[in-house]
Amino acid sequence: MLFLMAISYIAWIPEASGASAPAVMQLNETNRTYDASRYLEILEDRDGSLTIVDMDNPDIARRFSGNEQRIPSFGYTKSVYWAKLRLENNSRQRQWLLNIDQPPMDQIDLYIPDMPGQWEHRSSGDAFPFAWREVRNPDYSFRLELGPNETKTVILRFETEGAMIFPVRIATPVQHAEQQKATDLLMGAFFGILIVMSVYNTILAVSLRSKEYVYYVCINVTAALLYSSLNGIAYQYLWPEAVWWNNRAIVFFICLAHIAALLFTRTFLKLDSYYPRIYRLFSGFIMFEMVNIALLFADYSSGLQMAACMVVLIDLTIVGVGAASLWRGFMPARFFMAGWGVFMVGSVLTLLADAGILPQVAHIRYASQTGSLFEAIVLSLGLASRIQSIRMEKEQAEALMILSKKQAESDFLTGLYSRRYIVGHFEALQTRSVNRPVSLLLMDIDYFKKINDTYGHETGDLILKQFASVIRGELPAKGIAGRFGGEEFVILLPDHDLNEAQEAAERLLKAVRQFPFRIGDGSYPCTASIGVAEWRRHERESFESCVRRADNALYEAKRTGRNRVCAALEQKRPLGHDAAAVPIE
Ligand code: GH3
Ligand code: MG
Ligand code: MG
Repeated sequence: MLFLMAISYIAWIPEASGASAPAVMQLNETNRTYDASRYLEILEDRDGSLTIVDMDNPDIARRFSGNEQRIPSFGYTKSVYWAKLRLENNSRQRQWLLNIDQPPMDQIDLYIPDMPGQWEHRSSGDAFPFAWREVRNPDYSFRLELGPNETKTVILRFETEGAMIFPVRIATPVQHAEQQKATDLLMGAFFGILIVMSVYNTILAVSLRSKEYVYYVCINVTAALLYSSLNGIAYQYLWPEAVWWNNRAIVFFICLAHIAALLFTRTFLKLDSYYPRIYRLFSGFIMFEMVNIALLFADYSSGLQMAACMVVLIDLTIVGVGAASLWRGFMPARFFMAGWGVFMVGSVLTLLADAGILPQVAHIRYASQTGSLFEAIVLSLGLASRIQSIRMEKEQAEALMILSKKQAESDFLTGLYSRRYIVGHFEALQTRSVNRPVSLLLMDIDYFKKINDTYGHETGDLILKQFASVIRGELPAKGIAGRFGGEEFVILLPDHDLNEAQEAAERLLKAVRQFPFRIGDGSYPCTASIGVAEWRRHERESFESCVRRADNALYEAKRTGRNRVCAALEQKRPLGHDAAAVPIE
């Protein structure tokens, strides 16, 4: 951008034509177009009161002065401008075009001397329906007929509510068409990219159900409409008859573009959580832009002025909040600032050129448009990276959830299930195993404290792990085992009635008795006691109650000598006797 500005500055150095009357413009060749700027004599008509008849008046004629700018540019003005151009045709070409490439120009009047005191008069500009144009292009062209060696003076009158810029060029129709082809190609590329990106991102918006993408598409669509209005393309192809609307379209789309940008910025930079006040300010701006649109249709010039003031205010606020987010280390703000920053610099350059402060050369004239394309691309990259990081965060959260679920479900020491998991599984069995018995074993190591006291806690842990492996080895097909806490284990046995569960418990105790528990280099004989209970399906017994009965049976096993299985009585006893259990020898 600095480079562009440097070029602009160089390009802006006034030409040395001075205030003296410019030379006659010689048309010698037909293979190039002629920039008429330095041959123009210009007169500012502040109140627009002059008419073509006044041009014959010597006093008025003296007020014309040679143009000193590369392209005549007088910013936003209420004045009417007159320009005089003298042409001499030194070629054999008869048909020429006088071209003014400033699509938002409201009215251009062309006068060519006919007979003394009489003028041929033609008009163009976007104050007239598109079909009235002599050459159907977004810019304005008047046909000129100039015989070999013929000299002609042409007088132009310009009037507009937009920027007063009139780049006058002379070209043969072929040259003009060829040049237009190049412009059309560039415009086609610009709008093509915006349309493709809009369609693609609309699909993403729908599939991701993302508001950000919707706002992003709105930015692209409003940008496409705004620039096609500015370049006269929208007038040519979208609303060629709608003069009244066309005059308002540019400001209308500026307001809409701002609403889209404000909505996008609010979401993209998460203003609601990071800068709630700015978020509310943005809501205010959005309301304001809506009022602006209403005003535009009621009173055009007030709407235009209000929009012009808001452009600066809103754009600076957006850049400010983007910079603040970047400063705070909010990563997506990098994309935001890169895109928005380039667009802003481009827009300021174009605005300065429109205001007559910078020269109207192509790279400045289209700087805003190029900037907006750059912005669209960078913001789309920003959105993609946002989606990517959201996805990664989600994946990490999911992995963490799976891990913590696994941790909650298993006992860290033995690798058996946790109490929590066993409870869940029991409840699932209650609903799933229709008419099938379910039993529960509660197993407690005998005199475990002694192992801890004699060999230490770590050895105790090793014994617990070895117990877990014995349990795993003896577990029937559908059975699951968990550590209930301390040196107590629980085993759920689906499809086992009380007798079958007792048999399973006996097999387990047998395996425990036979297992060579290792402590250091030696082995240590361990035993355990088991309480068995069958779930009382018909009573819809709770897990707690079933465990309580198994625990009572276990207590009974301990009380009657340990190293044995005790079963909880199947019949429900009156309250208080539920603890009854019978030892099994
Ligand atoms: P009983 O035959 O009556 O069950 O006697 P016990 O010594 O096995 O039972 P008690 O409840 O008196 O002692 C259990 C011991 O288990 C007490 C506690 O320090 C120990 N303990 C509980 N959890 C762990 C553990 O995770 N690792 C180790 N090493 N010891 C544990
Ligand atoms: Mg014990
Ligand atoms: Mg115990």
